[in-house]
Amino acid sequence: MPWKRNQSLKAQGSRLKGKAAASHLQPRASSPKPFVVTIDGPAGVGKSTVAKLLAQRLGVMYLDTGATYRSLAFAAVRGDLNPITDRSRLAVLARRLRLVLQPTPEGGLRVRLDGVDITTHIRTEEVSEAAAQVSQYPEIRAAMVRLQRRLARRAWTDPRNGMIRRGVVVEGRDTGSVVFPQAPYKFFLDADPEVRARRRQQELERLYGSRPPLAQVREQLHFRDGLDRHRRVGPLVKPAGAIAVNTTHRGAVQIVRLMLTYIHQRKSVSSK
Ligand code: C5P
Repeated sequence: MPWKRNQSLKAQGSRLKGKAAASHLQPRASSPKPFVVTIDGPAGVGKSTVAKLLAQRLGVMYLDTGATYRSLAFAAVRGDLNPITDRSRLAVLARRLRLVLQPTPEGGLRVRLDGVDITTHIRTEEVSEAAAQVSQYPEIRAAMVRLQRRLARRAWTDPRNGMIRRGVVVEGRDTGSVVFPQAPYKFFLDADPEVRARRRQQELERLYGSRPPLAQVREQLHFRDGLDRHRRVGPLVKPAGAIAVNTTHRGAVQIVRLMLTYIHQRKSVSSK
């Protein structure tokens, strides 16, 4: 049955169980075109949780484009570059970034810069803010987009069973609009700002063991949203053809089930 955009995801989801859908969707290792699912949206909507779970269910790699901007921001802060004023040196740094994203058995990514594990260092508020600043510059975005496409094309070894895999679930702000505009499956997540602030607060507590005041988190999200939505190149938008999902009252498992249903239905229609 073809997917109808005016049908609710929920109604579609009840027709098919996620497990059954996933088994049809494993990309072949020899597939010339990478299998790409894009998930965009602002901070705190649950993109990472959903993208990791969906990638696991599809047996493809999870690619976090935010981690590429965060790694650049981390390198800038470490090198005493100003993320607003040192534009040309930031661009050089972006082109030379020696970044490795390594899938973990839990479905996440370990981030290594120049061989050093920076996975937790890139999640601080200082780096978050610097990432939002460095990502304003078109030449930096161009270098990051090239890097992201290269990472997405790569074959990778599944750490759970040693199998070689191709294909990605990629998440970020412009993955469906700029990085992979031709992707066959695109989603745009959004949620109530208050819920997003609480989720981000919980994430920070999980990572660093202390809970920052909600008002502070809310203000930081608001600031980053402004930069992300209003930049000239690669702004945060709902990409053409993307399915919008509001995550305010939905859990990750439910959302992933709905996404799998949608992907499965589109795939079966396009193969007819
Ligand atoms: O997704 P995450 O919060 O880790 O991203 C950090 C920052 O990197 C965002 O606030 C945004 O400014 C930038 N970013 C971007 N384009 C992407 C992903 C992230 O500009 N595709």
